[in-house]
Amino acid sequence: MSEKINCPKCGMLLYYGEEISRRLYMRAIPDEAAVLAGYGNVCPRCGFSLSVDSVKIEIKRRATSKGGVTHGS
Ligand SMILES: [Zn+2]
Repeated sequence: MSEKINCPKCGMLLYYGEEISRRLYMRAIPDEAAVLAGYGNVCPRCGFSLSVDSVKIEIKRRATSKGGVTHGS
C-alpha cells in the first residue's frame, strides 16, 4: 500500500511513498508526525499549521483487485 499526505489547505504534497506504518518496521520514517516535523509542522507553501489530525492522509491499496472474481466450481 502507498500513502500520501497533503496539506489540507493548499493541497501541497507533503509525503508520498510506502505506507508509513509499514516503514515503522524498517525504521525509515518513525511516523506521520515525524514527516510533518520535517517541515517544521507548517506547510512550506501556504504556512498552514500541520498536525497529524489536520493533514489529509490517504492510504491506497495497490491495484490488485481481481475485479469481482467469485468463488465457485
Ligand atoms: Zn499548504
